[in-house]
Amino acid sequence: MAQRFDAIIIGSGQAGPPLASRLTAAGMSVAFIEREHFGGTCVNDGCIPTKALVASAYAAHMARRHSDFGVVVGGPIGVDMRAVKARKDGIVRASVDGVSAWVKGMPMMSLFWGPARFTAAHRVAVNGEVMESDRIFINVGGRPFVPDWLGLKNVPYFTNTSMMQVDFLPEHLVIVGGSYIGLEFAQMYRRFGSQVTIVEQGPRLIAREDEDVSSAIYDILAAEGIQIRLNARCIGVAAHGAGVAVRSDCAEGEPIVTGSHLLLAIGRRPNTDGLGLEVAGISCDERGFIRVDEQLCTSVPGVWALGDVNGRGAFTHTSWNDYEIVAANLLDADRRRVSERIGAYALYIDPPLGRVGMTEREVRASGRPALMGKMPMTRVGRAFERSETLGFMKILVDATTNTILGAALLGLNGDEIVHTILDLMYAQAPYTVISRAMHIHPTVAELLPTLLQHMRSLQ
Ligand SMILES: Cc1cc2nc3c(=O)[nH]c(=O)nc-3n(C[C@H](O)[C@H](O)[C@H](O)COP(=O)(O)OP(=O)(O)OC[C@H]3O[C@@H](n4cnc5c(N)ncnc54)[C@H](O)[C@@H]3O)c2cc1C
Repeated sequence: MAQRFDAIIIGSGQAGPPLASRLTAAGMSVAFIEREHFGGTCVNDGCIPTKALVASAYAAHMARRHSDFGVVVGGPIGVDMRAVKARKDGIVRASVDGVSAWVKGMPMMSLFWGPARFTAAHRVAVNGEVMESDRIFINVGGRPFVPDWLGLKNVPYFTNTSMMQVDFLPEHLVIVGGSYIGLEFAQMYRRFGSQVTIVEQGPRLIAREDEDVSSAIYDILAAEGIQIRLNARCIGVAAHGAGVAVRSDCAEGEPIVTGSHLLLAIGRRPNTDGLGLEVAGISCDERGFIRVDEQLCTSVPGVWALGDVNGRGAFTHTSWNDYEIVAANLLDADRRRVSERIGAYALYIDPPLGRVGMTEREVRASGRPALMGKMPMTRVGRAFERSETLGFMKILVDATTNTILGAALLGLNGDEIVHTILDLMYAQAPYTVISRAMHIHPTVAELLPTLLQHMRSLQ
């Protein structure tokens, strides 16, 4: 006999809990199903723990730079990895407890622990219990992609998930994958004191970004002593003494990279296998992401997919925005659509990269008349005072409408000040709103008006 609920939420990702809060506040009974832990990837092995570790790595880096600031330290700088992990664990625990208390405190809330599986379009089973609803919300996220490389079954390796248990210093960490997750771990472990080698199959790091961004980031990481192997597609791994050897099909350089430990950071896959979507008639694309419409409804009416699993975003903020879109449509008669949002994200190396909208490459490919402003961070007084002048700011503007098309802010506080540009883009206001504004001195954002006053035509 199936239990009936007004709504079923599968997965405690970044959209599930806030959606449950809105639904229960609207008087609905909600069945909330989670198979592992409250808070999903972001809280347990994604954003929050990695940024906690990035903060420890930054502290170690600045401590080593003590003499640049006239600070005297009475000995070499060391990193206690057990303490680093304990700090990270404490931050994660507080976040998990917060989500847990929030969900458990909701009225009309029924919690179920275990993997959910559809047994019909509007029926879900978990641990032998069956429940039905006219409204089902899938927020099951993703997990690290593990390839079927030759030898991988025979050597130990880390993913971003298992890295969260590391409480020691790897002597030499080999990271396969030179994109966002791989780069954050690379710089963090280099600053903790490991040797680090990145093996990337493409011709440059984070290939989705413009070439000047990729190459500036290459220089920043290389200057810290990180070895970077490009054009090196990994084709096999094997044990090498107590460590590991990664074999690649590189055109240049040694075909084998050896290290003490291996981290795979080559992408993530959606948690849709095992969910019984085919039984429910819910359509997926060839990579397993659930197909959704503008309001995030799946191919089955009354079933929505939110967060990484719908392939429309891969961030906590896109998942949270998915919740807002679904809640607005369902509860507020507000027809918000996913295509209304502007792509924005950050890469949390030091200095961080704040990104919004189109890249220079995309603007050029669009063929529209455009303006571009670009200045090095050495022009920013605040960065100069803090001796943190690496990177640059770049903004692209539509020369016909004067609206901002995109920006890449690689530098001190780039992840924060990019919101100045993002909000102007949402307002669909011309760039002159910023170029004529008086910004506060000495801040990083004070360069934005100057930058926008000195744009050139994009040839
Ligand atoms: C190392 C790393 C760093 C990151 N850093 C950032 C960052 O700085 N900023 C940012 O915006 N994003 C970051 N992300 C991405 C971010 O973590 C995800 O985009 C975010 O968690 C959104 O996920 P979600 O809501 O789709 O679900 P998730 O957070 O992945 O949660 C899904 C939940 O569903 C549960 N589940 C899965 N299958 C089932 C099932 N069958 N039954 C029941 N429950 C199930 C899982 O246990 C999990 O709790 C990072 C990711 C990683 C891996």
